[in-house]
Amino acid sequence: MYIKKDVVIVGGGAAGFFAAIQIAEQNPDLDIVILERGKEVLTKVKISGGGRCNVTHAEFIPSELVKNYPRGEKELLGPFHSFCSGDTIEFFEQRGIALKIEEDGRMFPVSDSSQTIIDCFLSEVKRLGIQILKNHSVKEISKQENEWYLQTNQEGFQAKKVLIATGSNPKIWKMLETLEHKIIAPVPSLFTFNIKDNRIKGLAGIAEEVSIKVLDTKLESEGPLLITHWGMSGPAILKLSAWGARELNSHNYQFKIKVNWLFKTTIEEAEKELKVFRTENPKKLIVNTKPFSISKRLWLNFVEVSTISEKLRWADLSKKQLSQLATQLTESVFQVNGKSTFKEEFVTAGGVDLKEINFKTFESKKHENLYFAGEVINIDAITGGFNFQNAWTGAFIAAKAMAY
Ligand SMILES: Cc1cc2nc3c(=O)[nH]c(=O)nc-3n(C[C@H](O)[C@H](O)[C@H](O)COP(=O)(O)OP(=O)(O)OC[C@H]3O[C@@H](n4cnc5c(N)ncnc54)[C@H](O)[C@@H]3O)c2cc1C
Repeated sequence: MYIKKDVVIVGGGAAGFFAAIQIAEQNPDLDIVILERGKEVLTKVKISGGGRCNVTHAEFIPSELVKNYPRGEKELLGPFHSFCSGDTIEFFEQRGIALKIEEDGRMFPVSDSSQTIIDCFLSEVKRLGIQILKNHSVKEISKQENEWYLQTNQEGFQAKKVLIATGSNPKIWKMLETLEHKIIAPVPSLFTFNIKDNRIKGLAGIAEEVSIKVLDTKLESEGPLLITHWGMSGPAILKLSAWGARELNSHNYQFKIKVNWLFKTTIEEAEKELKVFRTENPKKLIVNTKPFSISKRLWLNFVEVSTISEKLRWADLSKKQLSQLATQLTESVFQVNGKSTFKEEFVTAGGVDLKEINFKTFESKKHENLYFAGEVINIDAITGGFNFQNAWTGAFIAAKAMAY
C-alpha cells in the first residue's frame, strides 16, 4: 500500500522547504509532502552562520556571483538569471523578514537569529497546507510506468513528481546510483590548514592581508589570513580549501604553501624597500622599526628566523640577512599537515554529476519527473551565504517545473 501524493520532497532542509513553499504558492491544488529522516527539520539552517543564518550574499550580478562556486560556476549562471540573491531578499521581505548586509557582503536576518528563518518556513508550510513527516527516512526509490514509489522506514509513498533535497547524504547517493545516476565522490570543502611552525607560534588571532600559493599546484588565493592555535584560517585559506577540495584530498592534506605577507609586493620590491629603510634609519634597532605594516609580533618572528639579533641596528644588517628577511616576508613556505573544521561549518564537494541535470528545470536527464536541489548536487561554494543561495535557486527553479 502506497500513500498517493502529487509531489514528494525528500529532505526537510533548506532546499526541500524552499521548493515546497514555491510549488504550493504556484499551484495550491497540489498535495505535497516533505519526508524528513530526522526528528527535527531545518537542523542545518538552525546552526548555520553561527546560529545567525547567513542566508545569502550581497552580490547581485549573476556573472560575479558564480565566481564563488568552485563546482557549479558554469551551470549556475543561467539559474541565477532566474533567481538571484535579490530574489532571496525579496522572498524574505515579502514575509516580513528584513535582511542586513555586513561589511564583507554576507547577509543575515536583522534579528541575528536563524530561528527567524525557521519560523518563517514553518508558518509558510502551515499556511499552504504542506504536510511534513518527520522520522521518515527514504530507503528506496523506484519508478513504474509514470509513477515514482518511495519506501520509508514507515509508510510507502507514490507520486508523479519527486524532488531529492537530501543534502550530502551518502545513502541517498548510493540509491541514486541504482537509478543509474553518476555520483562524484564526496570530499570535504571549507576547512582550515593545520600548521606547526615556530614562525606563527603564539600568534593566534593575528590577521594579515596576504596572497598564497599551494606549491606544485595551480591553486592560489588572496585576502585576509588568520593565524589560529592550530595553523591558518580566514578567507584566503578557506578559498584555497574550496577550490582545492579535490586536489588537496588527493595529497592527503599534506602539502606546502607559500605565503606573501606583503600581499602583492615581490621579493625584489621588498629587498629594495628594506635597503632604502636601512639607509634612512641606520641607528634604529631592527626589532623596533619596520618598513611594512605587518603585525609587530610577526615581524619579530621573521627577524628571529633571519638570524638577526635583538641588538642589531639597521646599518649593520648584512646582505644575506636582508635577503632572508625579504624571503620570509614575501615567500614564506609552510608545511601543511592535515585540516580542521572551520567554526563547525563545512560543505561537501561531490554529489550528482552536473552533466546529468538539466539546469533549466533541475530535472534529471536520466529520469523524467525526478528533480534535485541543494547540496545533493555536485555544487558547492566558498563561505559567505553562497551555499544557501544555491539551495534557494535550485529549489525555486525545480519548483517552477514541478508545479504543473
Ligand atoms: C555548521 C554549518 C554552518 C553553515 N552555515 C552556512 C551559512 O551560514 N550560509 C550558507 O550559505 N551555508 C551554510 N552552511 C552550508 C548549508 O547549511 C548547506 O549548504 C545547506 O543546508 C544545504 O541545503 P540542503 O537542503 O541541500 O541540505 P540540508 O540542509 O542538509 O537538508 C537535507 C535534509 O535531508 C534530510 N535527509 C537526508 N537523507 C534523507 C533520507 N534518506 N530521507 C529523508 N530525509 C533525508 C536530512 O536529514 C536534512 O534534514 C553551513 C553548514 C554547516 C554544517
